[in-house]
Amino acid sequence: MLTAQPIVEDQRLKPILAKVREGQRLSFDDGLTLYRSNDLLTVGWMANLVRERLHGNTTYFNVNRHINPTDVCVASCRLCAFGKHAKDPSAYTMSLEQVWERAGHGYTEAVTEFHIVGGLHPELTLDWFCQMIAGLKERYPRVHLKAFTMVEVAYLAKRTKISIRETLERLKAAGVDSLPGGGAEVFSESIRRIICDHKIDGNEWLETARIAHEIGLKSNCTMLYGHIETEEDRVDHLVKLREVQDQTNGFVTFIPLAFHPDNTALHHLPKTSGFDDIRQIAVSRLMLDNIPHIKAYWIMMTPAVAQIAQRFGANDIDGTVVEEKIYHDAGATTSQGLRRQDLLRLIREAGREPMERDTAYRPVQRQESAFTVLV
Ligand code: SF4
Repeated sequence: MLTAQPIVEDQRLKPILAKVREGQRLSFDDGLTLYRSNDLLTVGWMANLVRERLHGNTTYFNVNRHINPTDVCVASCRLCAFGKHAKDPSAYTMSLEQVWERAGHGYTEAVTEFHIVGGLHPELTLDWFCQMIAGLKERYPRVHLKAFTMVEVAYLAKRTKISIRETLERLKAAGVDSLPGGGAEVFSESIRRIICDHKIDGNEWLETARIAHEIGLKSNCTMLYGHIETEEDRVDHLVKLREVQDQTNGFVTFIPLAFHPDNTALHHLPKTSGFDDIRQIAVSRLMLDNIPHIKAYWIMMTPAVAQIAQRFGANDIDGTVVEEKIYHDAGATTSQGLRRQDLLRLIREAGREPMERDTAYRPVQRQESAFTVLV
């Protein structure tokens, strides 16, 4: 629990502290000050105040499984270690049957979510993906399908020569329940030109999210940090997400993603530090006053840092994951999955109350291997 008053070493934080206490929105300049302060305990104290105001002592997790149907990608982003050219002998594309079988591999009643993302494949059609989704829904009707980044949606729309809205409507009709928040990177155009110049630009990402929310598909949102972006780029990114959220209220969770340089064209860059990871969590909580949940994604930050992050603004540490590929191709040395009991221990050791959730943050109650969602 919080002490009544933090010991503020960095005097520049005092006006921000006053705003946070009163629940006022922080400005762009406040965001810069937070990033430029090394007084991590005060920044973290403020983030924790907001976190406990919203979620008390609860930390959420879920029991999910990642499925990456293909790593073939036309984009060649410099930030990426996952996407491969179609002719690369190590590239793979699953058949529909393989996707359905992989989803059920090790499947128990415990899994409440499939998280499905992949490369921008030059030949797989929107119909193919709709069939994939419909087949998953038919076989696993109780599992929430969180599928396709805004980047994949925009690419499918372009290839199919239909609008983003129609693409999303068709995916939704096939069984997509919500969208993950990947592919946002940082919205700054000058940075995108260097790290992901073949991707949709920041405005298109935000517009795709806006349309998804309008047709009733909630989504998460992300920011890739710790590469060549500036502090201004980070604040700009957070403010743009906050503006869309003011209009749609469709973002559920923000997930800051630490850049992993190994096996990418940016491999000369250092990995993020624990200090930067924790400060990023805290600044996100403070700036994104209208996005309910901040997730410390243990795959990227390590379980150890994700555990500490629960005291610096995070109220979610993601899920069991099972077979994570994208960040492990980029050198993540964390395990490819955690067991439910590992997540419980990480949360309890941090003095938080674990609550298993489904994708919509409804509590999941388990009895032996069966589970029910409490609404
Ligand atoms: S980041 Fe995504 S779009 Fe870019 S190369 Fe990798 S898989 Fe393709």
